[in-house]
Amino acid sequence: MRQLRDLLQEAQQNGVAIGHFNVSDLVLLKAVFAAARELNVPVLVGLSEGEREFVGTRQIAALVRSLREEFDFPIFLNADHTHSLAKGIEAAKAGFDSIVFDLSALPMEENIRQTKQAVEALKAINPSMLVEGEIGDIGSGSEIHDSSPDLSKGLSTPEEAKQFVEATGVDILAPAVGNMHGMLRSMVKGQTKKHLEIERISDIKQAARVFLTLHGGSGTDDADLRKAIGAGINIVHINTELRVAWRRGLEQGLAKQPDEVVPYKILPLAVNSVREVVGSRLKLFNGRHMAQGA
Ligand SMILES: [Zn+2]
Repeated sequence: MRQLRDLLQEAQQNGVAIGHFNVSDLVLLKAVFAAARELNVPVLVGLSEGEREFVGTRQIAALVRSLREEFDFPIFLNADHTHSLAKGIEAAKAGFDSIVFDLSALPMEENIRQTKQAVEALKAINPSMLVEGEIGDIGSGSEIHDSSPDLSKGLSTPEEAKQFVEATGVDILAPAVGNMHGMLRSMVKGQTKKHLEIERISDIKQAARVFLTLHGGSGTDDADLRKAIGAGINIVHINTELRVAWRRGLEQGLAKQPDEVVPYKILPLAVNSVREVVGSRLKLFNGRHMAQGA
């Protein structure tokens, strides 16, 4: 079985990106896996510290490993937004393939110092684990927001990207390039879209020369996502869109069968609702590489 690093390299050569989808229950995991298998493309599932606390760090690692082994399928597991080394070590020991070590809220020097330490400590546990570092400000949670935060001052520059990557030794960098965690209400309704700074992505890619992740991909304009991947983005994170689809599917399942109490008769509607979103995002991220009609 090829490692995540090999598949990222391959994606980079093919001008496509690997989709990263957050899961916090079996409905979401089933939906992500089904969509990726249908399209036969590699996929990353991620869990933030909060999501891991709910599902269980070792439990999700066992589930993802069992899917990978039983179906011989390239599904990988990422410890999303990890804010302490202790939580990172827990994920590394559980067998996660990658980690987002996120100290972007700290001043740059402190972010560099602690991220460098984390890279060393995590690679000592698992040398093939990929470590992602984060710079800049892309807002808070993957939720629905009433108003847009001003993130203009937190945009990443090529200079700081280069400095950060060289000083820390991270494998992957998550810059702030116009992206934002969560979605505005108008985005959930489909009335507005997020837009990305494509030139900034190209400049950062040239300066940093590592894999790049785009966080907060939900609600982003499709054309911007395609251009961002062309400019050097290798992983795109989608969370809020899945959460919206999860809730809608669940509400549908309950409304359609008001007297039903059997979970496995209600929940397939939620699985399908999420699966549709994941499928359409995976098609977009893998666009150039995918056969017609796949
Ligand atoms: Zn994120």
